Amino acid sequence: MKTAIYPGTFDPITNGHLCILQKGTKVFDKVVLAVAEFTGKDSVLSTEERYNLCVEATKDLPGVEVQRFDGLVVNFARKVKANAMIRGLRALSDFEYELSQALMNKKLYDEIDTVFFLPESKYLYLSSTMVRQVMQLGGDVHDLIPNCVEEVLRRKFEQA
Ligand code: ADP
Repeated sequence: MKTAIYPGTFDPITNGHLCILQKGTKVFDKVVLAVAEFTGKDSVLSTEERYNLCVEATKDLPGVEVQRFDGLVVNFARKVKANAMIRGLRALSDFEYELSQALMNKKLYDEIDTVFFLPESKYLYLSSTMVRQVMQLGGDVHDLIPNCVEEVLRRKFEQA
């Protein structure tokens, strides 16, 4: 059984994340989408909301399980017996950060290798930050995010 984790903050999950996840399920038997409890960033969504949206957005994807994690991502990988970590690579700017993370994670836990997938070109410049900013200003990003994310964010920004 080949298990991989796909860790991130998913604040919120976007179609770019789902694109990477789908590619991952073609290579691995099981992909654990791992939602970080701590974002280290200013987030509009709570961990509960980020987790629930990931569950809802992936409910029809076979081979995907959503879990929350705290602390070192390699400890979580060990816990779920994963020996691969999936990450997405967008424009060049992701590369340096992702490379250093992958090397550090390998140093911390030699059993883990990071596997990178490229999204479809329409998602190459899509980020959760961009989605939050555009929706906050009333812009339409309908085709870039799952419906459940659009509903929750719209409600949140209307209330604010
Ligand atoms: P983190 O804060 O750990 O980078 P994110 O939730 O922002 O978490 O992203 C998780 C992973 O998904 C990262 O590897 C990121 O590069 C990747 N990712 C995010 N958006 C996209 C996208 N549009 N296309 C491809 N990969 C993406």
